[in-house]
Amino acid sequence: MINLLIMGKPGAGKGTQAARLLDYYKLTHISTGDIYREEMAKDSPIGILAKKYIGQGELVPDNVTNDIVRNVLNQKDYPNGFMLDGYPRTKTQAIALDKMLEDLNIHLTAVINVDVEDKVLLVRMAGRRVCSNCGATYHIDFHPSAKEGICDVCGSKLIQREDDLEESVLNRLRIYNEKTKPLLDYYKKKGLLLIVNGEDPTATVFQNIVNKLGE
Ligand code: ADP
Ligand code: AMP
Repeated sequence: MINLLIMGKPGAGKGTQAARLLDYYKLTHISTGDIYREEMAKDSPIGILAKKYIGQGELVPDNVTNDIVRNVLNQKDYPNGFMLDGYPRTKTQAIALDKMLEDLNIHLTAVINVDVEDKVLLVRMAGRRVCSNCGATYHIDFHPSAKEGICDVCGSKLIQREDDLEESVLNRLRIYNEKTKPLLDYYKKKGLLLIVNGEDPTATVFQNIVNKLGE
């Protein structure tokens, strides 16, 4: 069983690498960002609440996010392990996750940090397009879809995320530095942190992660 956390600044390539790693190790994906986007599309009470924060580039409150992850971990099947993507993002969430895993008697295998400079991120997020239906991720220059504006996987329309507009991106980076970055030290002290250079091409980043996990 392989249980991974994938961390990194917004736009570092977490979702892109998660998609490849899930396929390779047959892991169950738990992405809090995807869960919130699904809830927003449904206009559910959680979606309506999350929208207020996400559009501004703010984090959804810890208690809401912790409850979601706790439910998913308790209910979802992960026969080969899981990949948590976009969670935890604060120290409070990391402590809550430790407790959830302890209660389930599950251990983390590794925490992968995809490391990218800020100026690269701004270009990536300005060009990011996501499928309005299945959530697959593209980039207008680095990973274009075969047919412009149309998802290769399901044929639905590609859209730009509201929180990828520049003002929101800068706020997300500020929040990352303040709230999420300290978690790298938290996991380093636990001996779980693996760092990869996220500025390499996607396939190289993936291979480096697999190599490090194999060590
Ligand atoms: P995150 O999940 O960390 O926010 P994504 O995986 O959505 O980031 O990637 C952000 C954008 O950068 C997407 O448009 C994606 O296609 C692109 N991207 C991801 N990894 C790379 C890479 N190694 N090189 C170039 N572009 C990348
Ligand atoms: P992501 O797709 O991971 O970039 O997440 C998109 C947005 O969803 C974030 O900018 C936050 O507003 C919200 N979100 C996702 N995960 C979390 C989390 N762990 N804690 C709080 N907010 C989150």
